[in-house]
Amino acid sequence: MPQTPAKFVILDRDGVVNLDSDQFIKTPDEWIPIPGSLEAIAAMNEAGYRVVIASNQSGIGRGLFEMSALNAMHEKMYKALARLGGRVEAIFFCPHTAADGCDCRKPKPGLIQQAAQRFGIEPRGVPIVGDSLRDLEAGVALGCVPHLVRTGKGEATLAKGNLPEGTRVHDDLRAFSRWLLQGDGAARAGAAVSTVHANAKTNAG
Ligand SMILES: [Mg+2]
Ligand SMILES: [Zn+2]
Repeated sequence: MPQTPAKFVILDRDGVVNLDSDQFIKTPDEWIPIPGSLEAIAAMNEAGYRVVIASNQSGIGRGLFEMSALNAMHEKMYKALARLGGRVEAIFFCPHTAADGCDCRKPKPGLIQQAAQRFGIEPRGVPIVGDSLRDLEAGVALGCVPHLVRTGKGEATLAKGNLPEGTRVHDDLRAFSRWLLQGDGAARAGAAVSTVHANAKTNAG
């Protein structure tokens, strides 16, 4: 029997949910949502999707900020989301630097594996949204479907190319959520979709 992927979405944080900075996001004041991103999370929740974040936070390993600052940033995010009726189920983060050689710093898939285990889901087919190649690679390693946003480092990532096969590009998280929720609606209209495929085949032959 074909298995539908869980209604689950995995997001990178910096450059996807909030504005990114080359100087790192170190304080709650520096944590500023990208316009429409929190609304997008709330809309996905409304449609039955559980949303988690998987984020490299090497600023901790570099000693740029403490865990308490990271917690305060996330508290700010949770509160802002709650005002919109949205929620993020969990935030998985890697506090290490590249030199630590850990299993969780993206592009390693450790954070995605942690999320899948915690929520008992199969990562195959689950959308992963990021603004850097390594976000997508971490998910693709486990069969997630890659989505690049143009916010944050997204434009630069797109310009560099070499994106995983099948990567879809969206202007921002809001555009991704619209695509996801429309696609979801189309998938539910199963009969219509089959007809289109059948016709396409006939025309091609
Ligand atoms: Mg990012
Ligand atoms: Zn790590």
